[in-house]
Amino acid sequence: GPTGAGTAVGVDTHCPYCALQCAMHLSPGPGRELTVHARDFPTNRGGLCQKGWTAAELLTTPDRLTTPLMRASRDAPLEPVSWDVAMRRVAVEMGRIQRTHGRDAVAVFGGGGLTNEKAYTLGKFARVALRTKNIDYNGRFCMSSAAAASTRAFGVDRGLPFPIEDVAAADAVLLVGGNSAETMPPFVRHLEGAGRSLVVVDPRATETAKKARLHLQPTPGTDLALALGMLHVALVDGLVDDAYVAARTSGWEDVARTAATWWPERVERTTGVPVGDLRQAVHLLAEARTAVVLTGRGAEQHSNGTDTVTGFINLALALGLPGRPGSGYGCLTGQGNGQGGREHGQKADQLPGYRSIEDPAARAHVASVWGVEPESLPGKGVSAYELLDSLGRDDGPKALLLAGSNPLVSAPNARSVAERIAALDFLVVSDFVLSETGALADVVLPTTQWAEEDGTMTNLEGRVLLRRKARPAPPGVRSDLEILAELARHLGSPVELEVRPRAVFDELRRASAGGPADYSGITYERIALEGGVFWPCRDKHDPGTRRMFLDSFATPDGLARFVTVEHRAPVEQRDDEHPHYLTTGRVLHHYQSGAQTRRVPALVAAAPEAFVELSYALAESLGISAGELVRVTSRRGSAVAPARLSDDIRDDTVFMPFHWAGRGRVNSVTSDALDPVSRMPEFKVCAVRVERAGLT
Ligand code: SF4
Repeated sequence: GPTGAGTAVGVDTHCPYCALQCAMHLSPGPGRELTVHARDFPTNRGGLCQKGWTAAELLTTPDRLTTPLMRASRDAPLEPVSWDVAMRRVAVEMGRIQRTHGRDAVAVFGGGGLTNEKAYTLGKFARVALRTKNIDYNGRFCMSSAAAASTRAFGVDRGLPFPIEDVAAADAVLLVGGNSAETMPPFVRHLEGAGRSLVVVDPRATETAKKARLHLQPTPGTDLALALGMLHVALVDGLVDDAYVAARTSGWEDVARTAATWWPERVERTTGVPVGDLRQAVHLLAEARTAVVLTGRGAEQHSNGTDTVTGFINLALALGLPGRPGSGYGCLTGQGNGQGGREHGQKADQLPGYRSIEDPAARAHVASVWGVEPESLPGKGVSAYELLDSLGRDDGPKALLLAGSNPLVSAPNARSVAERIAALDFLVVSDFVLSETGALADVVLPTTQWAEEDGTMTNLEGRVLLRRKARPAPPGVRSDLEILAELARHLGSPVELEVRPRAVFDELRRASAGGPADYSGITYERIALEGGVFWPCRDKHDPGTRRMFLDSFATPDGLARFVTVEHRAPVEQRDDEHPHYLTTGRVLHHYQSGAQTRRVPALVAAAPEAFVELSYALAESLGISAGELVRVTSRRGSAVAPARLSDDIRDDTVFMPFHWAGRGRVNSVTSDALDPVSRMPEFKVCAVRVERAGLT
């Protein structure tokens, strides 16, 4: 069978990190090590990045947790204890806190790296065993604005509603706010397919932007003005696909009226993008036989992120791209299971199958699969940052169970988040290493990791993949599935939680039936045989849906919706105290909060610490030299890191990657302003002061 694919000869699986989920083969190496081989697959075409090549080292990291840790009181150190003691303590504390403060006083925080089975079980655990409304996950910080914008326009959100091959075959690609050359390097070969017609929008001249035919370098926080300007050019230059707009969309007239006011000179004043470049970008897209518009975190992590993505979807619709074979709009999801992570119920407002927790039919269906009464399911909770910000407050949760996330490093305004976490009565963290957040926990539960268990992941295309067990887990660790099932028992859950991944997946299939993300027809066997299956897949005869929207969109009338949006500036403006923009992002060698990649020696050697990228001109004006420690300060806090001087960034903007803790933690500085629709924080722009740190 697919799960017992013979560890003697190795197994076919996928990378533990990003949403490209590159295909790998793991074979037994010397000693306990596994050797990573790249496999040919449509997403990675035989390529891996250095994170993937070194991923087996995570399995044998000396930092690996192999026994539960517990502190006797808030000031006592974490000490090893038995599973029995640890689990009883968790159950006792959660029970006590719920009896004293109500069910919502215990919160759950998940992650976009958890397998589908774990994400599903975490949501079920919260709703059935704890019966708390307070569950959300770090995917809010990832692609939630694109998910909200896609749902608004198309009725459903699947990151790429077409296979990745369509990107490679497209005659033109517009990539807004994505740096694939560093975040998912094997993806770049698909962009190279766009050859002479790749347009990249980014305030930095990233490695990806340097490959483009045209690089538009807007002022941070002005992407929506750019999108409106591009739509304006399409209108006045006669590039709108009128037949498509009439046949397949609604709402065009109002959107066209708004775009009419964004004449190119106004766009240039707002964004800094020259009129000629704006025109050229639109013509490249409109005149290509097939064209794809993609957004990444740069477009999405703003207080107007949903509207910004909507602006680019409006452009794609005006040009007649979505639902046309070989063309379309898609989002480059970031986290490994960012897609699946948002479909199975670990979001505050969702039940499995990507359905609303406020939809009575969805509640009835899921409750029947779970064997509970629909009335027993809690309602909608609050989003990730709002949840973190409410911890320990009078009306907020007093206990938190955290799985697969490290918000102390990855959440915005991290100093404030640290204060909220410290105000909890009880924190329990399950992880396979002691992350910065885990180090604050009252109980730490050591878990299995990627190659030690089976499970499925849904990649950025909505292709469901199998991650296989390649070696036994070290003695002393348990799967999150086992942990949640045992906790549910201790808490007196009315139903047992399943612990075998395949059985969880079969239950997930039933729970998803009839929803937008319908997994009914997908089985472990089919994934193994077919190399992956695209959702929706409604029964075993359904081949799965490689290209969505070919005939109709998932809206009630089948038409894609133009949504009228207007540009608004970032929440935080520059002033004399904070005269520069800060933007944040990733580097090639690290993943997310770095809790994993900062434990792989080759990656640490390549990228040992945070840095502040600033232009030569800005550095000179501030008297800063290369390598010198620089302090970046916002209204919330500061970070200190060495200066890296560059020609690749605007003179009004500095950049810091967010993978590090300690004094280089840029999220001490970032803004917690939230998008009103997606509740995505504004990671990509805030106002800062940049100065010599005067430290060594
Ligand atoms: Fe592929 Fe992403 Fe893994 Fe790199 S980190 S090997 S791009 S899945």
